[in-house]
Amino acid sequence: MRVKPRFRLLSDTSLPVTTRRSQTSRSKISRQHELHSYHACVLYFDYNATAPVMREAREAWLEATEKIHGNPSSPHAFGLAANKALTDARERLAHHLDCHPADIIWTSGATEANNMAMHHFAETLDAKSEVWISAIEHPCVHDSSRHYFGKRTKTIPVTHDGVVDMEWFATEMADTRPGIVSVMCANNETGVIQPWRELLAICQAYEVPFFTDAVQWLGKMPSKDLGACDFITGAAHKFGGPRGVGFLKAPHKSKINSLLFGGKQERGQRAGTENLPIIVSMLAALDAREKQLANNDHETRAVWREKFEKLLLRQVPGTTVVGLGAPRLWNTVSTLMPVASGVSPDVEGGILPPGSGHASSKQHPHSSATAAGQDARLSGGRGRPPLHSGQQRWVTRLDKAGFAVSTGSACTTGKEEPSHVLSAMGYKAGQVTQVLRFSSGWETTAADWEALEKGIVKVYGEVHGGK
Ligand code: PLP
Repeated sequence: MRVKPRFRLLSDTSLPVTTRRSQTSRSKISRQHELHSYHACVLYFDYNATAPVMREAREAWLEATEKIHGNPSSPHAFGLAANKALTDARERLAHHLDCHPADIIWTSGATEANNMAMHHFAETLDAKSEVWISAIEHPCVHDSSRHYFGKRTKTIPVTHDGVVDMEWFATEMADTRPGIVSVMCANNETGVIQPWRELLAICQAYEVPFFTDAVQWLGKMPSKDLGACDFITGAAHKFGGPRGVGFLKAPHKSKINSLLFGGKQERGQRAGTENLPIIVSMLAALDAREKQLANNDHETRAVWREKFEKLLLRQVPGTTVVGLGAPRLWNTVSTLMPVASGVSPDVEGGILPPGSGHASSKQHPHSSATAAGQDARLSGGRGRPPLHSGQQRWVTRLDKAGFAVSTGSACTTGKEEPSHVLSAMGYKAGQVTQVLRFSSGWETTAADWEALEKGIVKVYGEVHGGK
């Protein structure tokens, strides 16, 4: 079956879906411009990297840019107007997170917020304290923890389904007390949801502060209860807000020392003039997403994703869905794709035997069957292709067919390094390089998921048929 590629301009997601052909009659100049934005016009399945800016956020940005000129720190009427808008945004975020407005510190995104949190822990915890972080944290948490705490960073293992090993955690906590526990709400590569409420309860029982990177959770799942976590970070561009803005929520009694030297903005906790229009825009996006979540709109979308997965597993033999047995975000599917004949995976590819790697020895019943199948498929491969060649082939072919998908996190794409997340889950190098991530957004429709499934089946036929 031929699948017609469909394109949608991201600058206005309400525009009708159009085709490549309809664009050919335009002038050379406008075509060049379109070519530039062409990739952005392909059906987009990389929301976990960045989501398109939603209408409400764009309008709020424009209004703030045009109408609020002042610096929030200035004493005149313009400054007061800016300060009022900033306070309003802070109160709205505090309302969503159910925390005190003074707990919020605006940042340039989650990388800065996570670094800021780790810097704060390094400055305030005693010299012997350990930091416990999950094995699947984003590099900005992982690397900053290593930077500040070195060997005092302890890794919390995950199961083969990519969930923090609660048994390990409860046992270790009964034995020793870390200075801080850091576990993300949901993983960016696999979409696997972490039991942050349970972790928080254990931490509270032992009076250990709990820090969560909520970047992939916010705007996709209700923020209810999140405010009970001691430290939270988020970024606007994952839920329809602009890029380059995020926040750290930290108890206002524990004053944060600014990472940057300069002005006394954010109660002296983050130097530099606040970027009001993008902060206001972030809140407009979050308000809109929380409304959709209150309507349970995400539950309908979870059904579309599940249908896609079922069809994919049926139509493309040899596909594995990563974290299949675990609760996952409604928008994310991480798969190990079959490798075409002649492009064999790493000959050692296979699931690590229980207990032999980072991954916890506990296997989910669903995943052990998958693992066995995966082992069988991967055994006997000959020759070692350049790293990621199979993945690259999938991504390129799908891109040509009109689907923008990813090989994992945006940060690791381009680096010839296997995902630390999949490695922590017990997948071996040969498998880790077979990963494709499909991450949808609020704008994605059931028809888009269906088109993607058909596109993958078509590419599978081409690759495996040697076309
Ligand atoms: N944390 C998680 C879980 C992420 O997915 C990302 C980005 O992909 C970040 C942190 C970093 O966010 P930012 O790009 O806004 O700095």
